[in-house]
Amino acid sequence: MKPVLYIVIPCYNEEKVLPITCELFLEKITTLVKKNKIDNSSRILFVNDGSKDHTWDIICELAEKDEHYMGISQSRNRGHQNAVLAGLMEAKDKCDITISIDCDGQDDINAMDEMVDQYLDGSEIVYGVRSKRDTDTFFKRFTAEGFYKLMNLMGAEVVFNHADYRLVSSRVLKEFANFEEVNIFLRGMFPLVGFKSTSVYYERHERIAGESHYPLSKMLALAFDGITSLSIKPIRMITGLGGFIAILSFIGVVWSVVMAILGKTVTGWASMVCIISFIGGVQLICLGVLGEYIGKIYMEVKHRPRYIISERTEEKK
Ligand code: UDP
Ligand code: MG
Repeated sequence: MKPVLYIVIPCYNEEKVLPITCELFLEKITTLVKKNKIDNSSRILFVNDGSKDHTWDIICELAEKDEHYMGISQSRNRGHQNAVLAGLMEAKDKCDITISIDCDGQDDINAMDEMVDQYLDGSEIVYGVRSKRDTDTFFKRFTAEGFYKLMNLMGAEVVFNHADYRLVSSRVLKEFANFEEVNIFLRGMFPLVGFKSTSVYYERHERIAGESHYPLSKMLALAFDGITSLSIKPIRMITGLGGFIAILSFIGVVWSVVMAILGKTVTGWASMVCIISFIGGVQLICLGVLGEYIGKIYMEVKHRPRYIISERTEEKK
């Protein structure tokens, strides 16, 4: 039996892009069906992430036009990660495999062929990895590289240069559904599920139209969220830093006492002020990091829903 594929596509204010890329997704489904690799009941599942433009109207029109298109709409904007999660959870009981991909044409749709091949060869997760970032600005490349390095340094297992373009089997998704955290960072969470996984390399293109929703501030927030959701290494580092400063100050105390005994008074209040304010600063940073974790716990214990679906194109039919 051929597997049923659901392509899960988060969309936020993408009215300029969607009419162009929707054709490419349909073409891909059609060729994969023709090649006998997937079943014709495969679908393109758009997730409208509370768009303020005509994105949802376009999705509804597409669903009426061709049975391969379908869509769900979130009651409000919840961000890319939650939109992908909503789509995956919607798809998990209806298909054998899902591929999540952005709707802006940046990720090479043709890599899907190899992803499906890898699945047919026994892989349950196939990560789409960007082999080149030529189309990204130097700044984006530089910050992205730093991001992956920092994530790994902090103990979060993330596939280098993999974003959220990945194939996941429904078997993995069913296990993944037990990961109930509210702070989600999908690319760091899927490796935790385990199962056989591989990577497929592709070149990243430029956005077909519209603008990126990820300026530097949001990227930094995502990196910070990713680290604190997946690792407690920063807290351990605080302990290490505290120990290091304590040893330094102990050496300072011994040195001052020795100097006092030798009759040489320790002069220089400026250095004292510098040290005190330095330690004050370090303490505040440490408090901030701890606070971030406490904030995360606060959000987790509320068990609020991670997404709320307000409409489905299926229900309109
Ligand atoms: N997106 C979303 N919700 C948001 C922001 C973005 O669903 O709040 C979608 C967006 O429509 C796109 C994908 O997430 O399909 C990636 O966003 P974008 O292309 O802006 O990010 P970049 O590729 O620049 O990192
Ligand atoms: Mg993009």
